[in-house]
Amino acid sequence: TDTLLQVDSLKTYYRTKTGYVKAVDDVSLFLDRAKVLGVAGESGCGKSTLVTAIFRVMPRNAQIMGGEVRFKGQNLLNMDMKTFKKTVVWKEMAYIPQASMDVLDPVYRIKDQMLETILAHEEISKAEATERIYQALENVGVPQEKAEMFPHELSGGQRQRVVIAMALLLNPSMIVSDEATTALDVITQAKIIELMKNLQETRKFSMMFVTHDLSLLANVSDSIAVMYAGKLVEFGDVEKVFSNPLHPYTQLLIKAIPDLRLRKQKKLVAIPGFPPDLEDPPKGCRFAPRCPLAMPICNEREPEFTRIEGFHYVACHAVNKK
Ligand code: ATP
Ligand code: MG
Repeated sequence: TDTLLQVDSLKTYYRTKTGYVKAVDDVSLFLDRAKVLGVAGESGCGKSTLVTAIFRVMPRNAQIMGGEVRFKGQNLLNMDMKTFKKTVVWKEMAYIPQASMDVLDPVYRIKDQMLETILAHEEISKAEATERIYQALENVGVPQEKAEMFPHELSGGQRQRVVIAMALLLNPSMIVSDEATTALDVITQAKIIELMKNLQETRKFSMMFVTHDLSLLANVSDSIAVMYAGKLVEFGDVEKVFSNPLHPYTQLLIKAIPDLRLRKQKKLVAIPGFPPDLEDPPKGCRFAPRCPLAMPICNEREPEFTRIEGFHYVACHAVNKK
């Protein structure tokens, strides 16, 4: 396997009146070619901050405090912005943002938005581009007549499919989906995820699939990264993480997944307490205040991110001690 995307010790903070929100704090992970990386963690843990840093679309008060994002070996963060937009975004990696249905401009027909994306990057005729648009829509199960419509004339699920088709227009090597399906009903959500997985398998792009819902990742991912309060707490092969979760936080998240096969509602275990204030996080492990296994050292020192065996990493004093 070879690495497509490598995030190294990335730190992204938000400046506020009172200090810095440490939203992504020393996160390192990688994604191999033609593989799917699932990124999970509860609301506010820094998932979108990570994604917007990779695509360099962060809000104005965000600041990269350190680290690198390497894509095909090249550091994206210090690349000239014009070059980055011209040669990397859409062509090499495309982004399906959170609330992605708002990506579509309400005053343009679907076809025109897609044409603009193609023609901004490739020197091909309008007829050729239009043909490609019809094909792209068909690939995601949207009838080509819909190309003539405005976004509001489509259903939420169709709009989501159009956004996926747009992301794939220039055949990028990587797609990043940030909660792309959370706004949809459960059945539509399952269909869209299946569609993305099928496209990924046939076209062999890499995908980073970001969600607060760990249960969505079991069937689509090759590897899983679990974030908590701006930190990566566990990272590894999907089977290892689900069958042998090492971090107490991951263990609790997995326990909280309702088992549909049991039919009757399993008693949901909510994790007691709240994530910390990221402007003033605990000095030791950020999960320690909520952790059932916390020991004195957990409040004192940050656990190091450690490889346990094979492709399975964790940052936890209780595991490292064993
Ligand atoms: P969700 O699952 O709700 O989408 P997330 O994991 O994507 O959450 P982020 O949006 O990355 O979380 O936010 C991480 C932290 O950064 C949160 O504490 C959030 O309040 C804070 N944050 C996000 N944007 C800003 C901003 N522009 N200024 C200050 N703080 C921000
Ligand atoms: Mg988010």
